[in-house]
Amino acid sequence: MATPAGDRKIPAPQPNPETKAFWDACEAHRLMIGKCNSCGEVHFYPRVLCPFCFSDKTSLQEAAGTGEIYTYSVMRRAPVPYAIAYVKLAEGPAMMTNIVDCDLDQIRIGQKVKLVWKSTEGGPPVPMFTPI
Ligand SMILES: [Zn+2]
Repeated sequence: MATPAGDRKIPAPQPNPETKAFWDACEAHRLMIGKCNSCGEVHFYPRVLCPFCFSDKTSLQEAAGTGEIYTYSVMRRAPVPYAIAYVKLAEGPAMMTNIVDCDLDQIRIGQKVKLVWKSTEGGPPVPMFTPI
């Protein structure tokens, strides 16, 4: 039996000083990942200190918005079922997100996905993914 993803109310993200630039970019529908200018690694979510070499020479880089499902779980007992997943971005880092706008029973590990934006209750939109 198919489990269509319904419209689910999404609580507003609460930006803090470290994440404000990330959420500001989300307002413009730009998904940003962290890039370290010392070691060259990219990471998600963006951090002030590079998680690889602890340099503070980090900046934001816009992600292409494509990736594949690394792992996922369908929350069937929620009032509106939804799928939570780690998506491995084309740039390398994995991000925790939701898989949306699809039959939740058709989701597969390794599936190619692309970025979509979902509005929240009074906050910036959040980046989610849908199968290509
Ligand atoms: Zn680094």
